[in-house]
Amino acid sequence: MLCSALAALAWGFLRAWGFLWGCGAAEPTRSWERTDQLGAGSRTLLVTAHPDDEALFFAPTVLGLARLGHRVSLLCFSAGNYYSQGEIRKKELLQSCGVLGIPSSSVMIIDNRAFPDDPGVQWDTEHVASVLLQHIEANGINLVVTFDARGVSGHINHIALHAAVRQQDSSHFPQPGCSVLTLETVNVVRKYISSLDLPFSWLQTQSALFVLTSEEVAQAKRAMSCHRSQLLWFRRLYVIFSRYMRINSLHFL
Ligand SMILES: [Zn+2]
Repeated sequence: MLCSALAALAWGFLRAWGFLWGCGAAEPTRSWERTDQLGAGSRTLLVTAHPDDEALFFAPTVLGLARLGHRVSLLCFSAGNYYSQGEIRKKELLQSCGVLGIPSSSVMIIDNRAFPDDPGVQWDTEHVASVLLQHIEANGINLVVTFDARGVSGHINHIALHAAVRQQDSSHFPQPGCSVLTLETVNVVRKYISSLDLPFSWLQTQSALFVLTSEEVAQAKRAMSCHRSQLLWFRRLYVIFSRYMRINSLHFL
């Protein structure tokens, strides 16, 4: 059993490296995705909790879906006003989205006291679901992308978004032609081994897997650098080491 697991892991490493990497390159030399279950040309809505979530966590998905011809828009449920920087952060979000290829006209930021940027406040799941459903219907959305039940960083606002889509999934969904894809939370070791996580991601079953090239990783980093108010030392380290700046694995609900 152990031998089989080790052999499978070694095979995954070799396959991923041989398939994706050029000699000595730190990132894959070409973009890659495992997207058999994703159609092309969908109207896709990325649903986040805070300005910078799109760059810190979802950049591989945004760039990968664009490659597949999806029209990606963003619904951000707060202005990120925890430190009273909401107005600055809204502008930073629009700049970051511009770098990731999402035009300002496709970005909606909800600046509402019902959804404060606050790890101590539980957002009302029904209210989140209702706002989200209205947005889906008004914009003819086919695919929703958001956090999974662990919210990548464990932030309570991220988890509230997942609770809302789960609720929708049971009470309002399936809407004709609209599905929900959630970003997989990996353990803390895998989270901070950068592109070395690729073989582990590659060996696991998921609905979609997006891997960025070195040029695209630079693009994701440029997007994150738009969030100047957030570039504290630990986020600079995150950008260097996090696999979420390079790899996204996702599951359908
Ligand atoms: Zn967040």
